[in-house]
Amino acid sequence: MTASAPITQDVMTLPRKLPEGPINLVGLTRDGMRDTLIAQGTPVKQAKMRVGQIWQWIYEKGVRDFDSMTNLAKAYRTELAERFVIEIPEVVSKQVSLDGTRKYLVRIQGGHEVETVYIPEEGRGTLCVSSQVGCTLTCSFCHTGTQKLVRNLTAGEIIGQLLVARDDLGEWPEIGARNTESRLLSNVVLMGMGEPLYNFDNVRDAMKIAMDPEGISLSRRRITLSTSGVVPEIAKTAEEIGCLLAVSFHATTDEVRDKLVPINKKWNIAELLAALRAYPKLSNSERITFEYVMLKDVNDSDADARRLVKLISGIPAKINLIPFNEWPGSPYQRSDWDRIQAFSEIVYKAGYASPIRTPRGEDIMAACGQLKSATERARKSRAQIQAEAGL
Ligand code: SAH
Ligand code: SF4
Repeated sequence: MTASAPITQDVMTLPRKLPEGPINLVGLTRDGMRDTLIAQGTPVKQAKMRVGQIWQWIYEKGVRDFDSMTNLAKAYRTELAERFVIEIPEVVSKQVSLDGTRKYLVRIQGGHEVETVYIPEEGRGTLCVSSQVGCTLTCSFCHTGTQKLVRNLTAGEIIGQLLVARDDLGEWPEIGARNTESRLLSNVVLMGMGEPLYNFDNVRDAMKIAMDPEGISLSRRRITLSTSGVVPEIAKTAEEIGCLLAVSFHATTDEVRDKLVPINKKWNIAELLAALRAYPKLSNSERITFEYVMLKDVNDSDADARRLVKLISGIPAKINLIPFNEWPGSPYQRSDWDRIQAFSEIVYKAGYASPIRTPRGEDIMAACGQLKSATERARKSRAQIQAEAGL
């Protein structure tokens, strides 16, 4: 909410009465949980403390039933169990890649399914989280973009993906033992299915829960949100979430970007760059990551590399080169290795880090841009995909 918004709005939106049916406590912010407990009958004076206790059980201990919350009175636990549930998405399948990457297919309300990917690395591990079922955008190189069915995930379904992964990794520290240095799940990237900035409030609430020092307690600098370029929401990302930002840039002219990332027709390269230059947290220590997918003969020439560094000049940035990951019917090919290296070299010489992202989990279709839930079978035809890509 902006500073100028009327205070009465908060009061107006307070839940006066709880909706029918059990309410899931997972995904409520501290304030949201407090309001919900009060509406259920928890005395106002106790509510903050009760939130603190329940919060610790859910997010620090990984407890899912009220009966195990031994620091709450038995009668109160029974009352809670009558009105609330602690629910996370159900794991439908788990695949493990030869390189150790784990892909979870999880089922959410309504029978929809989304994918979450865990990428283990030396001394750390990154969870790639989905924010929508499918994606309303139709980037022509992205498998998720061919999925028609779309709905926003709730905050509970987004934070629930972290809880699913922690369950599977067996990573629930005891209360008080918050060793964040050697964690298996140490980083989160919002780079799964969906455009996170088209589901801003739920993504924000879920990340606030992930960053809460009493729970999962991830530092904001260990969370990276990737957007295709939803310009009006970019400044809000810094202000309301404070995480790091990655941008799916992928092209150096509007003509090519219009085809690859169609949201460019709404907010073009100049508008996107202006928003990035104004990104409030911008500094050398918190650079913006420019993601650039390497597509053979489409966006991978030396001239592209030179145009890229010119365009971003002055923005503290890192260029992440992503070799294109193929999927069934994909209308592009991956650039040759020599080409990717030559491109990287030009960018590097201009003063920018230009790592080439190693594809992870390709054998289980878990690499960038390969996600698409198996239940959504209404796949577009190859001809349709090519037509939309303007090929
Ligand atoms: N919707 C957001 C986040 C999800 S995609 C966004 O577009 O930024 C995460 C990254 O993978 C994006 O940079 C996306 O452009 C890239 N990507 C999509 N399909 C890909 C593919 N087939 N191969 C390589 N990268 C891909
Ligand atoms: Fe959506 Fe991102 Fe895929 Fe584009 S690249 S279709 S914005 S998930």
